Amino acid sequence: MRNLFPPRVVFLAAILLSSCVQDDEPADSPARGPDFEVRYHTKYLDIAPGFSQPVCRGSLDEMDRYMEGVADLLGIEIQQPTTVFLYNEFATGSLAGRAELCDWCVSNCAGCYKGVIHSDFPSLHHELVHAVVAPAWGWSDTLFSEGIAGGLDWYLPGGPWIYPFMTNENLMEIVGSGSHNNGHFSRWLIDRFGSEKFSQLFEPRLDQHSTKEEVLDAVEDIYGLSLEELEAEYAATAATTYPLPALCDGLLEVPRNGDRWELNVTADCDAPHTFGPSADGTMFVAFTIDVPVELEDVPLAAWIPSDMTAAVAPCLDEALYGAEFETVHSTVMDNNGPTTLRRTGRHRVELPVVDSGDVYMRLCPANDKFPGSYPADKSVDPENCVGD
Ligand SMILES: [Zn+2]
Repeated sequence: MRNLFPPRVVFLAAILLSSCVQDDEPADSPARGPDFEVRYHTKYLDIAPGFSQPVCRGSLDEMDRYMEGVADLLGIEIQQPTTVFLYNEFATGSLAGRAELCDWCVSNCAGCYKGVIHSDFPSLHHELVHAVVAPAWGWSDTLFSEGIAGGLDWYLPGGPWIYPFMTNENLMEIVGSGSHNNGHFSRWLIDRFGSEKFSQLFEPRLDQHSTKEEVLDAVEDIYGLSLEELEAEYAATAATTYPLPALCDGLLEVPRNGDRWELNVTADCDAPHTFGPSADGTMFVAFTIDVPVELEDVPLAAWIPSDMTAAVAPCLDEALYGAEFETVHSTVMDNNGPTTLRRTGRHRVELPVVDSGDVYMRLCPANDKFPGSYPADKSVDPENCVGD
């Protein structure tokens, strides 16, 4: 499975994931959003879901944690509550789907920030970055205003590329072009020179209408290096990837007990370990496991009586240098496993919930066996740890 996702694939995937093409218009139009009722007030958000299904406690708490993580990293104080119009055509009692989201965002169908957020679930983190940054700094060339959103956002079950990676883009070609991307470059700029300098790339010096020449001049004034010089240093010195805000903070920790981890909880939408509705309308339980060094690279078997597929990604606490993509990508765990985790330390796991009620998942060394290799009903306990 080595080199399963070569850089070009990651690059294309990142483009496909770009969730807003033109989300930078000031909020001066009279109608700010659809007729959804604000049903949740969190610390930083007024949330108006476009569906009757409840938004679970875990997701509400995580939106605030995430905004605080972004604000801390960038040295920003969150200025005012932001209204979120949350779209989900698969949630119970859906009032609006993708077509309406497209209408409000005009040029894209995943999400946008226009003083208020319009978003589906997968794009929500991206739009929350804009909601932290734009009120404090204004806008910039898309290389930076979309770059920082793309460099900090995440959505776990969406694919293997949860962490920002260096792409094969030529910055001189995309600067001033309106092209989204290179979140990794913006992360490097902040890591290398600090967020205060990065903020100078925003208004009043630059905005979304700045020309390529204006952007290049501003970069050279602010950093004392041309974009080409910066790009050369970036290519030579950037970390493989950078941590993501709040990916693993505040989650239920499932301890290892003997040779296994066992999740055994009640999925109650009011409980902080329960999240959703996700993109497909399901709730999910999010938790962390801590992988010891002796289980790194060891095939693990999962037994999930509901036969659902869990998503898993490593938690990074600091920038990672010289690491291969495959050691930090996200992957899945299910009864058809095994799954091999390539890093020690904490991982975030998300397990979809079929119905509210008891949720169970067991994870242990596979020893060349896993529940999917048994013809039996997958809801029947394969007994002990598989492979015993
Ligand atoms: Zn954006």
